[in-house]
Amino acid sequence: EVAVLRFGHRPGRDDRMTTHVGLTARALGADRVVLPDNAGQSAETVRDITDRFGGPFEVELREDQASFVREWDGAIAHLTMYGEPVQTVETDVRDAHADAPLLVVVGGEKVPWELYEHATFNVAVTNQPHSEVAGLAVFLDRLFEGRELDREWADADRIVRPEARGKTVVDASEIADEGETE
Ligand code: SAM
Repeated sequence: EVAVLRFGHRPGRDDRMTTHVGLTARALGADRVVLPDNAGQSAETVRDITDRFGGPFEVELREDQASFVREWDGAIAHLTMYGEPVQTVETDVRDAHADAPLLVVVGGEKVPWELYEHATFNVAVTNQPHSEVAGLAVFLDRLFEGRELDREWADADRIVRPEARGKTVVDASEIADEGETE
């Protein structure tokens, strides 16, 4: 299992970022996202996308992120610009994940020092400041070695038909009908 924890959320200011952490976790292969309980709006958006475009993917709201991290039974990868380069530690993270669930933690405004101490890995996607969404995307892609790009989605109502140009979204029921005629 791979869970993503969004540590900290400022309602209003962080709404889009927190939503995008959830959407990126879902699209790039995580099993669930855990959001702070003041990020209900973001949770709703991510659940809505999962209902329409498929899963499985879980969205949870938790009041105390610090205790969630403390009680996590498995490996923890905390994404931070101060950490070790992802390209150096990715094999170790993958090995740790082979034996245990993995919690990926991304911060917001400020992350408490205990997180750096408690994490199994402090992982940097470059040692330059950027964004939790970008960091999460690159990290998950490295973790899954690109396999997440070919993932299949269950229970989708809406499916995008890939095209060189154009924007075609079809109902899952139409695709099922096409399958029958072939
Ligand atoms: N200034 C804050 C601090 O020092 O705690 C971090 C703010 S940053 C906009 C928000 C989050 O983006 C961080 O907590 C981290 O998870 C992620 N992030 C930013 N740059 C990163 C990098 N180079 N590698 C990995 N994660 C990064």
